[in-house]
Amino acid sequence: MELLKQRIKKDGKVRSGNVLKVDSFLNHQMDISLFEAIGKEFKRRFADCPINKILTIESSGIGIACIAAQSFGVPVVFAKKNTTKNIDGAVYSAQIESFTHGRIYNVIVAREFLSPDDNVLIIDDFLANGKALIGLSQIVKKSGANLCGAGIVIEKGFQNGGKQLREEGMRIESLAIIKSMTDDGEIEFE
Ligand code: 5GP
Repeated sequence: MELLKQRIKKDGKVRSGNVLKVDSFLNHQMDISLFEAIGKEFKRRFADCPINKILTIESSGIGIACIAAQSFGVPVVFAKKNTTKNIDGAVYSAQIESFTHGRIYNVIVAREFLSPDDNVLIIDDFLANGKALIGLSQIVKKSGANLCGAGIVIEKGFQNGGKQLREEGMRIESLAIIKSMTDDGEIEFE
């Protein structure tokens, strides 16, 4: 998606540890007209799927998932990062190691919001090592719902999550795939 790539080139900031900061339009301040274009692009790419629910993870996926959901006309469910260890039977849960914080979160979705009748699209802001996508897809599997695929805003193609998950058969549509980025801010796309 050319508009997005241009914006990443213009406003993205490369940080140590292979982290790309996009706080001025995606992760802190949010450019809603860009989000609308992103949502329409996800809708175009997944037009062949009977998606009736979008699943994301708090917190940075929520904004983009909500605007995309307007294009699909479906509700958004977000997996919550749960701090308590006692999980009752009313939730599906998975463990996700955070790329940016390095810690492991238990994430949960209430059973009442995902069922075998659902056709789910996962949406997230970034794809790096794939841990968030794996955890969310485990939750979808536990619920018996059908996973239509994943829509990712920015994939860091030089990290292995996308390759691994595609090889395992997951449909992933990434709107910008970064081939390489250097400490002095050079960003190249696939
Ligand atoms: P993964 O689970 O694929 O390793 O990482 C994806 C998650 O980590 C995303 O939900 C995103 O919030 C965060 N993340 C991974 N890489 C980056 C990055 O370069 N920049 C930002 N801002 N977030 C990232």
